[in-house]
Amino acid sequence: MSDNKNGWKDIPIGGMIKKAGNAFEYKTGDWRVYRPVIDREKCIDCLLCWIHCPDSAIKVEDAKIVEVDYDHCKGCGICAEVCPVNCIKMEKEN
Ligand code: SF4
Ligand code: SF4
Repeated sequence: MSDNKNGWKDIPIGGMIKKAGNAFEYKTGDWRVYRPVIDREKCIDCLLCWIHCPDSAIKVEDAKIVEVDYDHCKGCGICAEVCPVNCIKMEKEN
């Protein structure tokens, strides 16, 4: 049990969003432990990974996957789970 006697009013304010839409400025890819790597030879451009990615980190042009935005991909692996042809491998970051 903690012996911290501070009340909730003594806790510093955190997680405050001071400017709307500022999430784009944060490189959330820093958190990643595994990175998705897409095998373009096997990909059928079904776009399921793009639809399911919670960070909009799968980039699409002309209805085709073009790249993963590694600055914002958190490595959750959802894209690899939903890919119907298993062409996304989650590889450990160096
Ligand atoms: S690992 Fe997660 S965050 Fe990264 S591209 Fe796949 S679904 Fe998006
Ligand atoms: S889910 Fe798989 S097959 Fe579909 S677009 Fe994404 S990488 Fe390609």
